[in-house]
Formats: sequence, C-alpha cells, structure tokens
Amino acid sequence: MATLLETIAPTGHKGLTYPFGGTEPAQGDVLQVAPGIDWVRLKIPGPLKHVNCWLLADTDGDALIDTGMNTTEARDAWKAVFNGPKSDTRITKMIGTHFHPDHIGLAGWMCDHHAAPLLMTRGEWLTARMLAADARDSVPTEVLAFWRGAGWDDDQIAHATAKGWAGFRRIITPLPLSYTRLQDGDTLTIGARDWRIVTGSGHSPEHACLLDEAGGILIAGDQVLPRISPNVSLGVTEPGADPLGEWFASIAKLKTLPADLLVLPGHGDPFTGLHARLDAMDREHRERLDELEVFLAEPRRSIDCFGRLFRRAIGPDMLGMATGEALAHLRRLEVEGRALRETVDGVWWWRAT
Ligand SMILES: [Zn+2]
Repeated sequence: MATLLETIAPTGHKGLTYPFGGTEPAQGDVLQVAPGIDWVRLKIPGPLKHVNCWLLADTDGDALIDTGMNTTEARDAWKAVFNGPKSDTRITKMIGTHFHPDHIGLAGWMCDHHAAPLLMTRGEWLTARMLAADARDSVPTEVLAFWRGAGWDDDQIAHATAKGWAGFRRIITPLPLSYTRLQDGDTLTIGARDWRIVTGSGHSPEHACLLDEAGGILIAGDQVLPRISPNVSLGVTEPGADPLGEWFASIAKLKTLPADLLVLPGHGDPFTGLHARLDAMDREHRERLDELEVFLAEPRRSIDCFGRLFRRAIGPDMLGMATGEALAHLRRLEVEGRALRETVDGVWWWRAT
C-alpha cells in the first residue's frame, strides 16, 4: 500500500518570494533561517526529493520539528548534524507536525536517543499508532472492495496486492507509548519564542502548524507548501469523510493569520506570500471541481477522472494517491449536491446532478 505522501501536481506560486534565494542546507548541515531557528533538509525517496526539519533553540538544547524518513541516509545525516554543527546539543522536545512517515519516521529514534518527550496532536498520534499497530500482511477485503469501487482493474489490484499491507509499522521507528498532546490554540514556549499551535485538516487528520506571531514565522508542515499541492485524499479508513471540504476550511482558517509571515514549509524553500499561496491552492481545487462537474455529464468512475485532475500520467506507483485525490474531489461534489454516486457491481459511478 502506497503511503500517504503529498504531491501530484506542480502548482502556481505567483506572489511568493523566497528570501533565501535557493540557498539550502547541505546534508548533515544546518542553515539558520532566523535567530534560534535552524533548517535541516533531508533527502527522501520519491518526487518530493527532500523534507524539511527545524531545530528551535530551547533553554537547554533544541526542540526538533519533524525528523525525515526512517532511512539509513537520514540517520547518517542526523548523526552528521549531531557530530558537527549541533555537537553540543540535545533534543529537548520532539514535535511531529503530522503522522506521515516522511515527517515522523525517526521520531521514536530521536526520543530514545535524547530522552525527549514526543509532542503531537491527538488525531495525528492516534492515527500513527493505529497504522503502526496493524500487523496484517495481506490486503484486507474492505480495501479490495474500495479499490474495485474506485474502478481499478484486475491488473491494478494484483499489482497493489503484491506489495502487501500494513507497511507503516516497518517504515517508521517505534513511537514511545506516551505522548504530550498539542491542541489548537495552545501556546508552546521554546527558548525565547512563544509558538501557538494552529491545526489544519484535509492532508492529515489534525495537522499541527506552529505560529510565532511576534517573530512573524509560521512552521507550516505540509499544510501549506510552495509550488506543489499537498495530497488531499479520501481513503478506506473514513470513506464518508469530506477531506477536501476540511482542506478548504483549513485554508480559510490560515487566511486569518498575518499575510507577511515567513513560512517554513515541510517541503520546498522558505517563502513569504502566505495568502497568495492559500488563494492559489483554494482556486486550483475549485477549478478542478468545476471541470470535473462538466466531465460528469456522463457517468464516470474515479479512475476516469485522472485526466481532468492531473497533468501527469498516473503509473502504478501513483495510483493509490491519485485515486484518493480523485475521490476527495468527487466526494466534495457529492457533499455540495453537484454529483451523485451510483454503485453498479461494486463500482462507483459518478454523474452530475
Ligand atoms: Zn510531507
């Protein structure tokens, strides 16, 4: 089963400026982006190429936001950081923005090494623990039915089935059994800065952003990314959910934050132009909904909609994510009363109302 990573479509980034002008920290090094805030950039497999982690100067060490994936390369990069520029530093708090393995893949390892507590929202923590506790190796029948419902053919199902199930537990280091809950509106004092927790949803259930309003900085995780559109997917866990509706609501919520923040995203370079980026993300999804509604003049399956939603061809490795994203859009049209779903022989057919 493909993990839930972001990306699919490169998107507009007009109105954004990149204050570091393409200067990025090398593997195993850090780059200061503001007083007491260091950027660590780790390679990850796949089209995103890198994930960003942030070290925040704390009273007796550094708090760490996100860790990168559980790969030998990422561990080696962290060892280089802690043997090099951060040789006198311990991690005081391990903060995970959301449950995806490119963000908390090494959180358990970090907590062990530094005797650090893990801080996450309850929605992200429980999702990570739930997925890690799933020990089935073969694909459950509900998932096979879900794939059939989405319109996958026998070859596509066979390809996905061959990859097995419940891979999450193997791609992250085990999380500690206890965590500290972060809640929307909480203030977290780290060194000289006060960070307000701002949660969002749609890419993951209860994603934490950290806002230092006085310092003008937003650690955005994957809730706002420059250049690429975070993946918003409907999946088998909650097939009646409306993740794109949650995504729109989160965009509106983030638009209440100051427009001139320096945004430190989970992928890509730090940027300013938060509102321009939020507007672009909102507009692109709404345009895709409009195009999809026209396309649904004839009944379509979710896989039939890929050409309307994505600019790239969808191969087997992207199929799961593309299906989830297509379903999120179709489900949104259904919630808005603009489309209906009919099930024929286990396959969902959508048409405009
Ligand atoms: Zn990510």
